[in-house]
Amino acid sequence: MQHSKRIMVTGGAGFLGSFLCERLLDQGHEVLCVDNFFTGSRWNVAHLLSNPAFEIIRHDVTFSLYVEVDEIYNLACPASPIHYQHDPVQTTKTSVHGAINVLGLAKRLKARILQASTSEVYGNPDVHPQPEAYWGNVNPIGPRSCYDEGKRCAETLFFDYWRQHSLRIKVARIFNTYRPRMRPDDGRVISNFVVQALQNQPITVYGDGSQTRSFCYVDDLISGLVRLMGTPDEITGPVNLGNPAEFTMLELADLVRELTGSRSEIRFMPLPVDDPRHRRPDIGNAVAALDWAPETPLREGLGKTIAYFDKQLTSPRGRHQLAAE
Ligand code: NAD
Ligand code: UDP
Repeated sequence: MQHSKRIMVTGGAGFLGSFLCERLLDQGHEVLCVDNFFTGSRWNVAHLLSNPAFEIIRHDVTFSLYVEVDEIYNLACPASPIHYQHDPVQTTKTSVHGAINVLGLAKRLKARILQASTSEVYGNPDVHPQPEAYWGNVNPIGPRSCYDEGKRCAETLFFDYWRQHSLRIKVARIFNTYRPRMRPDDGRVISNFVVQALQNQPITVYGDGSQTRSFCYVDDLISGLVRLMGTPDEITGPVNLGNPAEFTMLELADLVRELTGSRSEIRFMPLPVDDPRHRRPDIGNAVAALDWAPETPLREGLGKTIAYFDKQLTSPRGRHQLAAE
C-alpha cells in the first residue's frame, strides 16, 4: 500500500472521474470529488458515498476553490460533442478559467496536478498516428473549437505554470475511451451504436463511416492516469494515453451488430463539421515513461459495455445500483 494522500478529482462524478475516484479509494487514499453535475451525476458515485474516505462537493471550477489536498486530477469538462457544444462559452470557460483556478490552488498547496487533456488537441490530424510532438491541425472558429482550443489553452497554462512557478505538472492526452456507466444519451459513438443495436433501431453512421478512431477501455486508461501522476517530477508529459488499435466506424458498427446479435440496419447521416478523418495514438512515450500499454481488446471491452447497457435498458433497477457493477 502506498502512503495515503488526500486527492482532489474535478469532474469526479463524470464517467472517467467516477472510475478514477473508485481506483484512488481502492488504493487507500482520501478522495475529494468536485463536480457541478453538468454531465456527471451523483448516481455515478452513489456506491462510494458511504465510504468515509470519500467526500463530494457541488462546485463549478470556473470559480475558485479553497481546500487542502496533496494532489489534483483536473477532469472537469464535458467530453461528448453534443454536451460540449450545448453551451460552448461555458465549455471554454471550464477549460480555461477552470485550469487557472486549479493551477492557482496547486501553486498555493505545492500539490502535484494532472490535466486530462485530449486527442482533440491534434484536431483533424495530417500526421498519422499522432505523436506528442505533432502540433495539430485545429480549426479555431468551428463548432468543436470551444473544446479543442479550450483544452489547448489549458495545456499552455499548465506549461506556463511549470516554467514560471515550477509547478509539478502532468498532462495526459486521452484518446477515445469507453466503458459501462456511460449515459445511454451520452451521444458518443460506442454508447449510440450499442443502445441502437440492443433496441434493433437503425445504427447511425455519420458520413460514409470510413473515418477511424481508436478506443481504450476505461480500466486501462485509469491505470495510465494513475501511473502518470506517480512519475518523477521531471516527467511532465504531454503523454498520449489510448489504445492504438484503429477501427473505421463501419467496422465498429459491424462488430457491435455481431456482439449484440442485432438486426439493426445501418443508417447513414451527415458527417458533423470538422469531424476528424482518423485518429490513432502513438503510445511510444507512455510505454517508455510509464511502462504502460492498454490490455483490453475492443471486442472484450465492448462485450462488458453491451452487458451493462442491456441491463440498464431492461432492468427496473436504478442507474446507481448498476454503477457499482
Ligand atoms: P464527462 O462529461 O462524463 O465528465 C465530465 C465531468 O465534469 C462531469 O461530471 C461534469 O459534470 C463535470 N463538469 C463539467 N463542467 C464542470 C465545471 N465547470 N465545474 C465542475 N465540474 C464540471 O466526461 P468524461 O468522458 O468523464 O471526461 C472526463 C475528462 O476527460 C474531460 O476533461 C475530457 O475532456 C477528458 N477526455 C475524455 C475522453 C473520453 O473519451 N472519455 C477523451 C479525451 C479526454
Ligand atoms: N459517430 C457516428 N455515429 C454516431 C456517433 C458518432 O458515426 O452515432 C462518429 C463520429 O462522426 C466520429 C466518431 O463516430 O467520427 C467518434 O465520435 P464521438 O462523438 O464518439 O467522438 P469524437 O472522437 O468525434 O470526439
